[in-house]
Amino acid sequence: MMITVEEAQGLIREAISPVATETIALSEALGRVLAVTARARISHPTDNVSAMDGYAVRLEDIPSTPIQLRVVGESAAGHPYDEILKSGHAVRIFTGATLPSGADTVVIQEDTEPDGNKVTVNRIEPHRHIRPRGQDFLTGDSVLVAPLRLEARHIGLLAAADLPWIEVYQQPRIAVLSTGDEIVLPGEPRTAAQIVSANGPGLCAFIRNHGSIPVNLGVVGDNIETLQDAAEAAERCDMLVTSGGVSVGDHDLVLKALCDLGLNVTFHRIAMRPGKPLMFGRLQNTKVLGLPGNPVSAMICALLFLLPALDLLRGLPGHPPEISLANLSEELPENGSRQDYQRALTKLDDDGRLTVKPFNKQDSSMIATLAQSNALIVRSPRASAAKKGDAVPVITLKSLL
Ligand code: AMP
Ligand code: MG
Repeated sequence: MMITVEEAQGLIREAISPVATETIALSEALGRVLAVTARARISHPTDNVSAMDGYAVRLEDIPSTPIQLRVVGESAAGHPYDEILKSGHAVRIFTGATLPSGADTVVIQEDTEPDGNKVTVNRIEPHRHIRPRGQDFLTGDSVLVAPLRLEARHIGLLAAADLPWIEVYQQPRIAVLSTGDEIVLPGEPRTAAQIVSANGPGLCAFIRNHGSIPVNLGVVGDNIETLQDAAEAAERCDMLVTSGGVSVGDHDLVLKALCDLGLNVTFHRIAMRPGKPLMFGRLQNTKVLGLPGNPVSAMICALLFLLPALDLLRGLPGHPPEISLANLSEELPENGSRQDYQRALTKLDDDGRLTVKPFNKQDSSMIATLAQSNALIVRSPRASAAKKGDAVPVITLKSLL
């Protein structure tokens, strides 16, 4: 039975639950998924502090301007003025320094004239230029809500909240197995009839890019026993991703080899192009995703199905890649019965409109055009012919594939 892309994504979502969590140092947390909502251990700022260089004063001392005050001390960042500010006095203050108690306003230095241990205030803006304690967040506040993929700006916030250790999901371990008698590794000796594996290296990079640990099982030939040996090596991984051999040809033995081992098949055909033969199932506790061998099909299926699976494993919602709209720079014919993903290039035109141009050749063995494209045009089953200028759905590949 052939199912739709969306149905397949739904079945994957139902089948996958997150891996366990672990506590790690914040310095290791970039790209990891926060597993527990982070609560600040301190307030930010920890005190009322000055937002400018100037003088800390008491508003009630300055009924009108200009007025002269006595400068009784200094408060610099890390070096507060520890006494209470008394009537008629001012404290020289710098950005980030603690506001002395008793002060309620900072006069910026541009509005003053210093004269020895005195200062003349020419203008005052009541209560201005102070960052009140906790204005950013207070002790106990939820500063980041889990689950969340941690970017650099989140790491800075967690540091400011005094959280040197955080709880994240473990990195899923994903076994990658390339199959085919004709496949060798890059750099290996090969005969004229052999080709170099694009899928193993490409899929390992994809997996690493999305926060999991690839376990490269290399290449095995089209042989039931060796396929089974390799699959058993993936036993302790969260998922096994294979490429090649899932079609219906005489040498497509992945499905048979894994079924003999007890594979529970969820689906194995999807109404899409490229990549109709695509298998998802479970072998004991390991999820299995069988990708087609053609490198373009393998990578596009990775984007549509492996990415949500990787995200679900590491605690994220596992949404399929986002779809946006772009205007066609040339016409497209009516689509057939399978959902079609066309390699394309998007470009912002002079009016700030996003336009998209499909590559002329869409053969699924052409990995160079995939590498050169920055988007995929999505053509739903039976989509009618589209004219130049029509808005079509696109998936932007940047940082995803
Ligand atoms: P298959 O799904 O095994 O029938 O493979 C489909 C096509 O993809 C064949 O032309 C294979 O030679 C090619 N292919 C399979 N595996 C790889 C791989 N790892 N790298 C590049 N091409 C591959
Ligand atoms: Mg093959």
